[in-house]
Amino acid sequence: MTDTPDPKPKSHGRLTIRASTQPRDLMAEERPVRGAFEARVITLFPEAFPGTLGLSLTGKALDMGLWRLLPIALRPFGEGRHRNVDDTPAGGGAGMVLRADVVDRALSAAMEGAPDDRGRWPVVYLSPRGAPFDQAMARRFAGCDGITLLCGRFEGVDQRVLDARGVEEVSLGDFVLTGGEIAAQALLDAVVRLLPGVLGNAASADEESFSDGLLEHPQFTRPQIWEGREIPAVLTGGNHAEVARWRHAEAEKLTAAGRPDLWAAHQTRPKGKRG
Ligand code: SAH
Repeated sequence: MTDTPDPKPKSHGRLTIRASTQPRDLMAEERPVRGAFEARVITLFPEAFPGTLGLSLTGKALDMGLWRLLPIALRPFGEGRHRNVDDTPAGGGAGMVLRADVVDRALSAAMEGAPDDRGRWPVVYLSPRGAPFDQAMARRFAGCDGITLLCGRFEGVDQRVLDARGVEEVSLGDFVLTGGEIAAQALLDAVVRLLPGVLGNAASADEESFSDGLLEHPQFTRPQIWEGREIPAVLTGGNHAEVARWRHAEAEKLTAAGRPDLWAAHQTRPKGKRG
């Protein structure tokens, strides 16, 4: 065993829902909006949620019922008295692998009442092997009714349950985390801020990095002079058209210099879609 058994395993084999580390507060205040986006997260560590998602704009939106978060503990779906969820890898090697049957039971419980159409409700396993997560994928997920996320631990998840249940693999980047929880929170943060009503200033989502295939222009604020460095004069001159031109030129310059991949894709985009 590579993980510590839950000291007080409860509600065996049943959907365990804990909305947050302060479940009562959040649930009492929650005014669910009809059809609000729902995230169900299967994890060995439900106490990791809402984590940073409970703060600031995503937390406020959670309180307002603009989206819902249901962490689902994997442990109660485990095998035997100790609710074992993992076993040694077939073929040998280091570490442990989450069992297909255990993950499947958790997935079935997590999908209760959700549409079986993966286009409306994707089921995602956070995995370094997955398709790279990007803003376009965040937009796709934000357009769904909800999403179920499976957080891996140890060496990952038995491939058979991923294949059998139409589970999409999504990676946060070319690095290896110890578990899927941070990846799930990052993914949800990017998705939730795109939901209607979550960002105070709706326009800000259209102007930021990636929205038109470019990185965002640099930002400045007071003081006017800091350590001898001035804010570019165009930004304080009050000419909005010039500001827009400057920002666009900076965005292009930054993208071309720092992200040749994005820059090449931007240049081949249809004109109407360019920023
Ligand atoms: N042995 C696996 C890594 C397992 S890391 C491999 O080499 O591919 C343990 C868990 O952390 C994974 O199951 C996954 O859920 C999560 N994880 C690790 N890196 C990740 C990444 N880049 N993106 C998303 N999830 C990741």
